[in-house]
Amino acid sequence: MADTAYDPNNIFGKILRGEIPAHKVYEDEHTLAFMDVMPQGEGHTLVIPKAPSRGLLDAQPETLAALMRSVQTVARAVKAAFDADGLTIFQFNEPAGGQTVFHLHMHIIPRREGVPLKR
Ligand code: C5P
Repeated sequence: MADTAYDPNNIFGKILRGEIPAHKVYEDEHTLAFMDVMPQGEGHTLVIPKAPSRGLLDAQPETLAALMRSVQTVARAVKAAFDADGLTIFQFNEPAGGQTVFHLHMHIIPRREGVPLKR
C-alpha cells in the first residue's frame, strides 16, 4: 500500500513557506488561494489550508471549516471578477482519484454557458 503520510516537501508546502512563487489572490490565518499554473479555464484558482493535510480524509474538522469558508469567499470573488455564469469546484484524493499534489486543495473554476473545461 502506498505511503499516505503528509510530506512537507510537496509543492504547495513550498509555496506556503515562500520557497517557490505563486500568484496569490487571497490569504488569511488558516488558508491561502492562488492561481493554478496550468488552468483548466480562465480564472482557475486553488484554495489550500495552511495546516498540513494530505487530502480530505486526513484533514481536521477545523481545517475543513476554515477551508470551506475561504472557498466560499474566493468563489464569490472569482465569479464576480470573471463575470462567470457559474462555478465548478472540485477536489481529488490520492493518485487513483486524480491527485498529483499531496497537500489538500480545492479547485475553483469560473464557468461560462457552453464553454467546456480544458483537460
Ligand atoms: O490533480 P491535483 O488536484 O493534485 O492538481 C494539482 C494542481 O496544482 C494542478 O491543477 C496544477 O496545475 C496545480 N499546480 C499549481 N502550481 C504548481 C504546481 C501545480 O498551480 N506549482
